[in-house]
Amino acid sequence: MSKEVVISERGAEALERRHPWVFSGAVRGVRGNPGMGETVALLDAKGRWLGWGAYSPASQIRVRVWTFDPEERVDGLFFEQRIQAALSLRSGFYPNGSVTALRLVSGESDGLPGLIVDRYDKVAVCQFLSAGAHRWKAEIVSVLATLPGIESVYERSDAEVRKKEGLCLERGLLHGPEPEKRVEIREGRLRFWVDIREGHKTGFYLDQRENRSRVMAHASGMRVLNAFSYTGGFGIAALAGDAARVVNLDASRAVLDMAEDNLRLNGACADAMENVEGNAFQVLRAFRNEGRLFDVVVLDPPKFAESRAQLNRAARGYKDINILGMQLLAPGGLLFTYSCSGAMHTDLFQKIVADAALDAGREGRILRRMAAAPDHPVSLNFPEGEYLKGLMVQLV
Ligand code: SAH
Repeated sequence: MSKEVVISERGAEALERRHPWVFSGAVRGVRGNPGMGETVALLDAKGRWLGWGAYSPASQIRVRVWTFDPEERVDGLFFEQRIQAALSLRSGFYPNGSVTALRLVSGESDGLPGLIVDRYDKVAVCQFLSAGAHRWKAEIVSVLATLPGIESVYERSDAEVRKKEGLCLERGLLHGPEPEKRVEIREGRLRFWVDIREGHKTGFYLDQRENRSRVMAHASGMRVLNAFSYTGGFGIAALAGDAARVVNLDASRAVLDMAEDNLRLNGACADAMENVEGNAFQVLRAFRNEGRLFDVVVLDPPKFAESRAQLNRAARGYKDINILGMQLLAPGGLLFTYSCSGAMHTDLFQKIVADAALDAGREGRILRRMAAAPDHPVSLNFPEGEYLKGLMVQLV
C-alpha cells in the first residue's frame, strides 16, 4: 500500500505555489505508517495528487517535497539528476577555475531539501539536515564520489537543526581518503586554510565570498576592524586590497590562530595584522573608550536569532554591536554590517541599523546592499532560503 499524507486546503495552496514544505498543522491524515524520511504521496482532501515528499515524523516541517512531477521517481537516479543540475547551474559562475571552494548544493533552493554540499578543492563536505536527505545518504554519497575532481566525501551533520528532525549529530569520512588536517582553497587572489573536521558549519563562510571582494575594493590605505572575524576572511581580503592595518576580533583563540596562518598563506606582512581575542561587545566598548578609530568596520556576528521568538533579544544585540561599530568609525568611514539570521528580515535589519546610527549620533547612507554569493541561491518559491543580508553604510 502506498504511503500517503492528506493535507489541508491551506497546505495544498502552498504546494500549488511550489513551496516545498508541509507543516504539521496542515496534515489532516497519514496513511500507511511511513517511516523516517520515507517517500510519501501528498494528497489534498479530494484525493488529488500534489507531490512526492519525504516524511519527517518528529519535525514541525512534517513533509519536504522532492518533486511536483507525478512521473518522477525518487531513487538514486533522481539524486544524480538533481545534483548534476545544481552543478551545471553553477558552471558559469567562476568559469576560469579561480575559485576552488563552492557550495554545490544549497538545499531547498536546489530542489534537494535538507541537503548541503560544499566543495573544498578535492573534498565534498555534506550535511544531511532533514530526515529525507538522511535516508538517501548512501545514494547521495555515491553520486558525489563520482564527481570529477572529488576524492573524498566528508560528513558534517553535526548541526543542531538535526535534533528537530529526530536525528543525532554525526560527522566523519564517508568516502575516499581521509582529508588533510587543513585543506587549502583559492578564491581569486585569496587563499585560505579550511579545517573540514573542526571548522564552523562545513568549514568556511563561502557565502561571504563576494562581500569579501567588496571589502577588498574599499580597503586601500584603510585602518580596518574585522569583528567576529572567524579565520580572518574579511581581514585577509582587506590586506590583499592594500589596507594599512587590520584588526581581527573573535572570541575563539583557535580561529585567530588560523587567521595567522591564513596571513602567512597569502604572503602578507605579519605587522599589518593584529588578532584580538575577546567578547566583541566588551572589546569594541574598550576600543571606543580608548578613542580608537577605523576607516572600515566589518561586523559579521553569529546568528543571534534562531527563530522568530528570539527576534527581540537578537534585535538588541544587533543594535548594540552596530552602535559600537559606528562609534569606532572616522568621518566618511565604511561600515559593512551583516546578519545571517533568517528570522531577521532585510527591512527590520535596516531599521535596526538606522536606530543604531541615531543612538550613536551619526548620520549614515547606504551605499550597497549585500546578500550571499550566487552559489547560495534563493528559490523564488522558497523565500525562507534567504538568510544573509548586509549593508554597506558610509558614515558622514
Ligand atoms: N566573518 C567570518 C564569519 C563569522 S562567524 C567570515 O567571513 O569568515 C561568527 C564568529 O563570531 C565566529 O568565529 C565566533 O567565534 C565569533 N563570535 C561569536 N560570539 C562572539 C562574541 N561575543 N565576541 C566575539 N566573537 C564572537
